[in-house]
Amino acid sequence: MVLFLLIVGAVVVLLGVIAASVLVARRGTPPTRQPLPPVLHRRERPAAPPVVAPEAGTPPAEPVVQEPTAPVVQTPALDTPEKTSGRLARLRSRLSRSQGTLGRGLFALLSRDVLDEDTWEEVEDTLLTADMGVGATTELVQKLRTRVRVESLRTPEELRVILREELLSLIGADVDRSLRTLPKADGTPAVVLVVGVNGTGKTTTCGKLARVLVADGRTVLLGAADTFRAAAADQLQTWGERVGASIVRGPEGGDPASIAFEAVAQGTTAKVDTVLIDTAGRLHTKTGLMDELGKVKRVIERKGAVDECLLVLDATTGQNGVVQARVFTEVVDVTGIVLTKLDGSAKGGIVVSVQRELGIPVKLIGVGEGPDDLAPFEAEAFVDALLGDEAAL
Ligand code: GDP
Repeated sequence: MVLFLLIVGAVVVLLGVIAASVLVARRGTPPTRQPLPPVLHRRERPAAPPVVAPEAGTPPAEPVVQEPTAPVVQTPALDTPEKTSGRLARLRSRLSRSQGTLGRGLFALLSRDVLDEDTWEEVEDTLLTADMGVGATTELVQKLRTRVRVESLRTPEELRVILREELLSLIGADVDRSLRTLPKADGTPAVVLVVGVNGTGKTTTCGKLARVLVADGRTVLLGAADTFRAAAADQLQTWGERVGASIVRGPEGGDPASIAFEAVAQGTTAKVDTVLIDTAGRLHTKTGLMDELGKVKRVIERKGAVDECLLVLDATTGQNGVVQARVFTEVVDVTGIVLTKLDGSAKGGIVVSVQRELGIPVKLIGVGEGPDDLAPFEAEAFVDALLGDEAAL
């Protein structure tokens, strides 16, 4: 009997379990959490621009859909300096304006009916006035005289051709004017030292050169080692900020050599391509200051060789600039000349005399106060500017 009751109970329990599982199956599985569909970030439509009533007679303007303004960025926007290739071509007209008188003067003389002794003397005077220097002037006039006579050249076109050829050979069309601004073989930055007398445009040239390098894709660190002139470091900093170049500067009157050293050290750590060092506008007559420049160079060289030492000369100072240059070359190994303010001088002949006297190539020229008014020197473009298009007879 007990066994019978146990069997009946077991059957009842079994039926109950079956009934319950059927019920659950009918209701379905409990829901799992589905990920919400992603929220689509739609561009908020900007507020409609104020509707301006059209003037009588004009058709109603199309509605303008303004793009949302970009979020405000706190860092100042950087300039995009102009690419260097072709810069001189752009600046040529400015150069022609200041230098064209030389070409016009020469053409006027050479196209006279009779090229007598007096005329050739006038040609010489014209070249000397343009600061060509005595040696180069004598050589050029002799060559022109010979060619005019031997080749029987008289037409304006012929004269233009020989004048262009002879000027180009004096300036040196094949001279290496490249700037060594790429990192050294060991990966440390190229070091460029910028020297020159106060007021020649040294700091400005440093700033412009930083732009030239940035335009060519380089990274630059500036060293404000001109602690002599109060505003120089601020001036340089402003130039740097405009193109994203950092600066190492020290207190006013501080030791320029240690700032220069620190600039090279920081440039090496930051792995920049070029460290550009502005130095004090030392007066070449003051021996102490020249000694200091020598010290700046020696101290830098403990950290790494100076790759390029650019001497900035003001073209408006004429032959005096050549005298200055010579003094600098005795203290530092000048590798290139930067001739500034060629826009404000009719003395383009200084390019010839400075190169000839010192055997150092002009590598850059400054032709204005604008930030991109510095161009790599190209002999052909320069001679064409010197002769000027309008000078063709
Ligand atoms: P620094 O004392 O040698 O460092 O001379 P600055 O860089 O302060 O320049 C002296 C003045 O020369 C500034 O007013 C510059 O704007 C100006 N300057 C520099 N380069 C040129 C140039 O190529 N053309 C002209 N017109 N002015 C220039």
